[in-house]
Amino acid sequence: MDWTLAMLIEHLPQHVDILIVGGGPVGALLAQTLSASGHDVLLVEARTEVGKDPRALALSHASQIKLQQAGLWHDTLLATPINKVHVSQAGTLGRTVLDAADLDLAELGCTVPYQTLAQSALDALKAGSTPLALGVKVTAIKQMAAFAYVKMENGTETGSSEHQLTCRLLILAEGGQLISQLPDIRQQVKSYEQHAVLAKLTPKHPHLGIAFERFADDGPLALLPNGMQYTLVWTQTPEQAAARLALNDEDFIAEIEQRFADRVTGFTAVAERASWPLSLKTLNSVVGQRVVLIGNAAQTLHPVAGQGLNLGLRDAETLAQVLAVTPKNQLGEAASLQRYRQLRARDAGLVTVFTDSLIHLFEAQSLPLKHARSMGLMAIDQLEWLRKGFAQRMVYGAR
Ligand SMILES: Cc1cc2nc3c(=O)[nH]c(=O)nc-3n(C[C@H](O)[C@H](O)[C@H](O)COP(=O)(O)OP(=O)(O)OC[C@H]3O[C@@H](n4cnc5c(N)ncnc54)[C@H](O)[C@@H]3O)c2cc1C
Repeated sequence: MDWTLAMLIEHLPQHVDILIVGGGPVGALLAQTLSASGHDVLLVEARTEVGKDPRALALSHASQIKLQQAGLWHDTLLATPINKVHVSQAGTLGRTVLDAADLDLAELGCTVPYQTLAQSALDALKAGSTPLALGVKVTAIKQMAAFAYVKMENGTETGSSEHQLTCRLLILAEGGQLISQLPDIRQQVKSYEQHAVLAKLTPKHPHLGIAFERFADDGPLALLPNGMQYTLVWTQTPEQAAARLALNDEDFIAEIEQRFADRVTGFTAVAERASWPLSLKTLNSVVGQRVVLIGNAAQTLHPVAGQGLNLGLRDAETLAQVLAVTPKNQLGEAASLQRYRQLRARDAGLVTVFTDSLIHLFEAQSLPLKHARSMGLMAIDQLEWLRKGFAQRMVYGAR
């Protein structure tokens, strides 16, 4: 199908039953899953291609299966298996290892570059059966009793075109940029006053699919196996992040090696350094009049536990299940929206609290607290039921 932009906006309908805004991994999963439901769906996505993005995402085995089943998984994704996750605290002996074998899995999950995952999602949408408007940005929304009203535009070199439509149900999977236009939804933003320093590190020896989470005194560091390299996610204050980005390669590597001590065997090169401001964004409700918010639009988490997209994909999966059994004339009505909200409350709440607590738990550096944390890591490592339960939550979420 030829999705030239001008043609697209001209041919968009005046009304659809379900409008999905945002064709990132979460919106794409929902659209692909809903395509078999028989509902009248349109997905609007601002991008036509995914630009460069430094993120590498740790996806659980369960997320990988969801993406595969929805046709969003390609060999070109450059996914790197994660077999074990090694969690430790600098300066103490406490450590725990989560192992795929504990859950009778070949892999706990994998690392995927955000850019290739999002591009693969976009390509699958282009080839799929869900009507699609690419390069079209939603600019205004208005909630009404019987429908939501949505205004959108595309911009080309020769000018811009606008379109307006109504829908019974508006699903925001756009990362949260339109929330301020919803009078019945309030967003709480908690800035961590931290940045994630991202970089690609080449290890001296093959990584063997082992990921590391290290709680150092000045902030947690994660190493995710990514191809032959590791992607580093290093939480720092904005000032520290700026200083680290300015270091020469040798000094940058020395800083990382010092924080990992003997846990990893060292690095030969560093590339693609970047930084990303971090905050926690939550909503008073993920549903409003004629509206549902999913993925990062519903909750944006600190990347310390690598849970944001995993959680968002479970939002999409559950919403698709609810909508599959909702009759056309009840789409967007309060009863089905509340049903979705109830189904997602526990998982989203627990993962959000867990991720936020992890930051604060490892923040304080008094000696007794460090010992207590060290004992905690040892306990998880020694008690099989605790370790398995923890790994289970990380892979499948809390249901
Ligand atoms: C440094 C870092 C590391 C991370 N690591 C992990 C990890 O290891 N594991 C994990 O699970 N998660 C991780 N995350 C979180 C993860 O990146 C997000 O949860 C995920 O990308 C959210 O997907 P989404 O589809 O909801 O939103 P997005 O990926 O943001 O997609 C939103 C889409 O909506 C489109 N859009 C936006 N506005 C409009 C509009 N007005 N009209 C039309 N379209 C619009 C955008 O173009 C985009 O395609 C990390 C995040 C960061 C910052």
